[in-house]
Amino acid sequence: MSHTGSSGGQPGPQRTTDRATALIEPTRAYAELVAGNRRFVDGAPRHPNQDAGRRAAVADGQQPFAVIVGCSDSRLAAEIIFDRGLGDLFVVRTAGHTAGPEVLGSVEYAVTVLGTPLVVVLGHDSCGAVQAARESAATGTAPSGHLRAVVDAVLPSLGRAEAEGVDDIDGIVDIHIAQTVETLLAQSPVLAEEVARGRCAVVGVSYRLAAGAVRPVAAVPAGFATSTTPASTDPAAPAIV
Ligand SMILES: [Zn+2]
Repeated sequence: MSHTGSSGGQPGPQRTTDRATALIEPTRAYAELVAGNRRFVDGAPRHPNQDAGRRAAVADGQQPFAVIVGCSDSRLAAEIIFDRGLGDLFVVRTAGHTAGPEVLGSVEYAVTVLGTPLVVVLGHDSCGAVQAARESAATGTAPSGHLRAVVDAVLPSLGRAEAEGVDDIDGIVDIHIAQTVETLLAQSPVLAEEVARGRCAVVGVSYRLAAGAVRPVAAVPAGFATSTTPASTDPAAPAIV
């Protein structure tokens, strides 16, 4: 897979998968994101696929190599922090990366129609949506308007954090990222099937606002985003990695 060219044809993800090729495309896609984030962190971005040639090349169709389900936070712009360009990332953003029906449908569109081999849940430290949910739970008051829907979607993660004895905001964020990974797979049998076949992987990463770096928090299949954790034989079993 080559995602670094500024023009020309786009590599297509493998649509048929056997044991020999399982996770090859998801692994390459994740490596591209990690490499781009490293360039961003180092202050040496290449800004690939952002020129007129690329714009023309993708005008008639797209084959993004990763879906980003990210928080809407203005400091979390996916193409910037992963140093990518046009046609590279299929980005779905809500406050607190909540996973409602439209988000699930968007992810399924990318994975099944466009053949995107990787889904990344992108959260971050000091997340305002998580903080709002925490404040709501602490005071017993629900926010007004549709903000309540965001808070309600984050509350299960707060319950899980409490059960695990985690009470610092960034620890709760990590749990919320892992929870979102699990929710995507639990609520989308279509996505779970693609993962089970080895055509797709789902990774949760946490972004540090000051440093600009991402680190893996959860992955399905287990251990996908790391080289030290053995892969689980059960693709439905998320794991903190
Ligand atoms: Zn946020």
